[in-house]
Amino acid sequence: MTLAQRPRPEADRDSAPWWAAVRRHELTVQRCEGCGALRFPARAICNRCRSRSYAWEPVEGTARVYSWIINHQVFMRSMADEVPFPIVLVRLDAGLGQGDDLLMYGNLADGDAEVLRAGLPVEAVFVDVDDETTVVHWRPR
Ligand SMILES: [Zn+2]
Repeated sequence: MTLAQRPRPEADRDSAPWWAAVRRHELTVQRCEGCGALRFPARAICNRCRSRSYAWEPVEGTARVYSWIINHQVFMRSMADEVPFPIVLVRLDAGLGQGDDLLMYGNLADGDAEVLRAGLPVEAVFVDVDDETTVVHWRPR
């Protein structure tokens, strides 16, 4: 099964701008216009100050592995030949020490799961699945 055959991520009201930026190969997070905090995942209201005002801001695509799983479950028959595969949760370097962690999920690019360890430095890799969809994978750096 190729990446193009996989189910597509579905953007919602809050995440649509993020997916549009990813399509441009740009990694972004929200910055609260009330208190200045960076946040991700996308949400309409700031956890800190309750402001509903925010802007999307580009960030460096560097991060460190926070955690991961090795998926052995065949959730879809069409992906049966891909298991097992790792899914990583990374903490962006952007925003470190500012409060909320900026955590993103993704596949491991160029990936042998044996390299995974907590704190492993990684970088975002933008993978164009087709003419409409781009996803973010994480590659050890
Ligand atoms: Zn705020």
